[in-house]
Amino acid sequence: MKIAIASDHCGVELKSALVSALSSTVTVLDKGPAGTESCDYCDYAVEVARDIASGAADFGVLICKTGIGMSMAANRFQNVRAALCASVEAATLTRRHNGANVLCLGADCVDAAKALEIVNTFIGTSVDTDGRHERRRWKLERAGRLSDASGLMKDDPEVWAAIEAQTVQEDTEINLIASENTSSRACREAAGSVLMNKYAEGYPGKRWYSGCLPVDAAEELARKRACELFGADHANVQPHCGSAANMAVYFATIKPGDTILSMSLDQGGHLSHGSPVNFSGKYYNIVPYTVDKDTEMLDYDALEKQALEVKPAILLTGASAYPRKLDFKRIREICDKVGCIMMVDMAHIAGLIAGGAHESPVPYADFVTTTTHKTLGGPRGGMVLCKEKWAKALDSAVFPGMQGGPLENIIAAKAVVFREWMMPEKKGYAQQVVKNCAVLCKTVQDRGYRIVSGGTDNHLFLVDVKTSKGITGKEAAAALDAAGIVVNKNTIPYDTESPFRTSGIRVGTASVTTRGMKEAEMVKIGTWIADVLDDITDVSVQERVKREAAELVAGFPVP
Ligand SMILES: *Cc1c(COP(=O)(O)O)cnc(C)c1O
Repeated sequence: MKIAIASDHCGVELKSALVSALSSTVTVLDKGPAGTESCDYCDYAVEVARDIASGAADFGVLICKTGIGMSMAANRFQNVRAALCASVEAATLTRRHNGANVLCLGADCVDAAKALEIVNTFIGTSVDTDGRHERRRWKLERAGRLSDASGLMKDDPEVWAAIEAQTVQEDTEINLIASENTSSRACREAAGSVLMNKYAEGYPGKRWYSGCLPVDAAEELARKRACELFGADHANVQPHCGSAANMAVYFATIKPGDTILSMSLDQGGHLSHGSPVNFSGKYYNIVPYTVDKDTEMLDYDALEKQALEVKPAILLTGASAYPRKLDFKRIREICDKVGCIMMVDMAHIAGLIAGGAHESPVPYADFVTTTTHKTLGGPRGGMVLCKEKWAKALDSAVFPGMQGGPLENIIAAKAVVFREWMMPEKKGYAQQVVKNCAVLCKTVQDRGYRIVSGGTDNHLFLVDVKTSKGITGKEAAAALDAAGIVVNKNTIPYDTESPFRTSGIRVGTASVTTRGMKEAEMVKIGTWIADVLDDITDVSVQERVKREAAELVAGFPVP
């Protein structure tokens, strides 16, 4: 057991007494001060709080005249619960109920013998694990989610209201938007950090500004971890979003007017794959491929035939609304026959690939682009992985080709998330996302709803609500929203409705899986979806589901 101990000048004497008494039984990390010269209590509270927050010590002890200033300073740190105690009873209860890990003492309130008794009680009492206190401790940590931006309550109440509303929404609704996830606290801490203050045009070690050592370290970590996680030769972590990542590849490889063979938007592709309203469709000659009309899946023979006819400069695969696995080996063979660049946009499935639940395109593709916020669960952003021979062209396409200063705070958050994927806690997550999706899909399907392509292999599926119930995707999504279930309307292959109305909804399981939901919850949610869609005019069903859904999510706290 390690105890970090510190005081201010008023507490030095008591501290020395405790250090000598405790040293025979535990490891004591004496954080100072050594003498009784006047000093600032905050500096010493921070030393001890850092040791607790980082895990370097199991317990902390902080002493000042009253113990109050020390408590205030220490409690500003994540994972620190500092309690001011003047009695053995208080020490017992704050350990058992609040799970306090830092003991604060007032040098004017307790003598050395009493203090030692309190410390020994504090470190010798274990934390109660019954539901009541566990729930309250969780709410204590949970308050941190709201307090993250609580300075805005006073400084900017209007923006604060929006942040609070999002927090409440995440707390109470079931998020099945396939392109979203729930970020970790660590990720948000990096994203909201001071790294946003730095201009860093260029790349680590080769910047256009001075003072880049801290951001160089963060970006180097992101690049190295991305390469390790995905087994890539080279990573550029600077693109501000997935669309920018795609733009970077086009800029690095082809000229305006060159041909890209890509999946059309209404079949499941993405805007940045050549939609006429997007830059990609305006600057390049886009030839769309489709899924097979009967199977609603990719027909690789047909794709090969089309590619040989069209002779594109780039064959682009990857989609925003394709519920099936992609055969990257086969796509590589097609690209080799045509002699074109193989580009895979894994924006949606990057997390499944990182977690080993979907085959990786990295060994096959010249370029792999992605977002970092979908199944990957990180900050809103983009990234490009490529083979070594393309590294230089890619980096100059991003900067100075299309962007100025990178968002180093977001890059740091990307690094945090790449590391999370390599931790044991993340093991099985991607597989659970896929399992959850299969169960949710089957539950809805068994209630008589037509599923595009008949099922799903990944984190999402599409429900054809038009064929099933004669309603549009827009109407279905609105009814589900009223019932506390958030999905999005989505075109389905060969849709006869406008992209604004659509015949389908898209349903995804990344976010609910991050919150810890499993197959049993998927059956409940699938049943609710069917209950609501069976009659979208029945408001009482929507109200019932909204109530039950809120009860369910309360048991699966947002990180
Ligand atoms: C989401 C997505 C993108 C890009 O997303 P941004 O909103 O630009 O970050 C690119 N490609 C695919 C396939 C996507 O699904």
